[in-house]
Amino acid sequence: MKLNEQDEATATAATLLIDGAWREAASGQTFASLNPADERVIGHVSAGDARDVDAAVAAARAAFEERRWLSLPPPQRARILHAVADRIEMELDTLAENEVRENGMPLTMARATIGGGAQAFRYFAGWIGKIHGQTGEMAQGEQYFGYTLKEPVGVAALIVPWNGPFMMACHKLAPALAAGCTTVLKPAEDTSLNTLNLVRIVLDAGVPAGVVNLVTGLGSVAGAALVAHPDVDKVSFTGSTPVGRQIVQAAAGNFKRVTLELGGKSPVIVLDDADLALAVPAVLNGIMANSGQACVAGSRLYAQRGIYDRLIAAVAEAAGKLVIGDGLSAGTQMGPVISAKQFERVMGYIEGGVAEGAELVSGGKRRGETGFFIEPTIFSHAPHDATVMREEIFGPVLSATPFDDLGWAIAQANDTRYGLAGAVYTRSLEKAHTVARAVRAGNLWINCYSVQDFSLPFGGYKESGWGRERGAMGLEAFMENKSVVARLY
Ligand code: NAD
Repeated sequence: MKLNEQDEATATAATLLIDGAWREAASGQTFASLNPADERVIGHVSAGDARDVDAAVAAARAAFEERRWLSLPPPQRARILHAVADRIEMELDTLAENEVRENGMPLTMARATIGGGAQAFRYFAGWIGKIHGQTGEMAQGEQYFGYTLKEPVGVAALIVPWNGPFMMACHKLAPALAAGCTTVLKPAEDTSLNTLNLVRIVLDAGVPAGVVNLVTGLGSVAGAALVAHPDVDKVSFTGSTPVGRQIVQAAAGNFKRVTLELGGKSPVIVLDDADLALAVPAVLNGIMANSGQACVAGSRLYAQRGIYDRLIAAVAEAAGKLVIGDGLSAGTQMGPVISAKQFERVMGYIEGGVAEGAELVSGGKRRGETGFFIEPTIFSHAPHDATVMREEIFGPVLSATPFDDLGWAIAQANDTRYGLAGAVYTRSLEKAHTVARAVRAGNLWINCYSVQDFSLPFGGYKESGWGRERGAMGLEAFMENKSVVARLY
């Protein structure tokens, strides 16, 4: 389904999928979804509420108890997840264009993220049939036989943000299904429509009805009902730290298992001996990719004094050359931010940065009159306590400061409530690994930025989250461990 060419589902705003059937929300209410590049309506989304969440959770619970998914032999389940990946790849052109219309990212990035969604299904399909418990020698002797079983945690609520909507839904759905869970997916308000395509693909590939359910709606209504629901066993959430905190409280009712991938204010340290030809584009892309709307965005730059001026000048020059526009236009390197609300928020931070004494060396203004475009913005000599140095902006804003002593830079890097990511650029092996050890964050890059792989766990320290996605840990997050002891004689 191509956005703007509404098929039956979106034409009627039947954007909820419950027990294999598309339906409208019980409230009968809808809200519009906009293209952030031209502010035109691309479709309507049903505003689900607690009644729809009850129905979706009941469907997921029934599918789980009836073992509709888990009773399929492992090779069949793996084949189905591979079929999901095949179908995503077959529809990649349309899915990527939809992602651009909904989120605003450049088409090249959308194609990469949709491809990343397919990879998630392939990677986790490979785990099915390879999920093992353990046996151990018991102190009680051979009269007893003890072993462990890994079992799906049950009904999993999967809550996704707007900044990589299709891919992040895949990153949650694939491990949840590989673990044997049944699910209720809740996309973000601004980017719900392409998720309908994902869910359609999952059904067409052979995932039984009720195993994947979709509830669209407002986070404060549908999302809140889902995370508080007593029949949900697990919440996997990617989004902002304040909402993560609310989810922890809501989940306490029945002690849901909770995985949180939250915000960040990731430090980038560039040493005097760095290869600037490599560092300049990496630093720029590390913050400006997806218009800065990336949880791992390298938004704080600490550069050693010997190269500071050259680095800032080169990054600012490259930022000025970035082609800004509609993600579907050829050559676009940076699209708009997601919404009017986000636009106002980011512009507010930029004004605050100037007011708090950071030196604006590039950008800082709106681009055009239609669409939510913001110039790539660079602040130099940003005071350590300036808001632009401390808070997650989630926009194309880099705040830099020089340093002399690496120990000082590491201390500044760690002086944050976040701990999602960081990077160091240097030719010194010793310094690279010293920084990698010292920075308290879940992901650390050396001479590159945001290079990620399914084999590596992804997640944050401190207020950047709980738990890890991807890799074996990502699968474990959707499983319980059961110890079984049998008396043999
Ligand atoms: P958000 O927290 O506002 O919303 C995320 C999702 O949660 C949406 O689907 C929303 O509808 C839902 N939601 C909102 N309130 C809820 C509630 N009370 N209960 C349950 N669900 C609720 O975040 P956002 O603005 O959509 O996304 C941006 C944030 O996400 C940034 O802070 C960013 O750093 C973070 N993020 C983190 C990662 C990561 O992996 N660590 C990845 C991407 C984005």
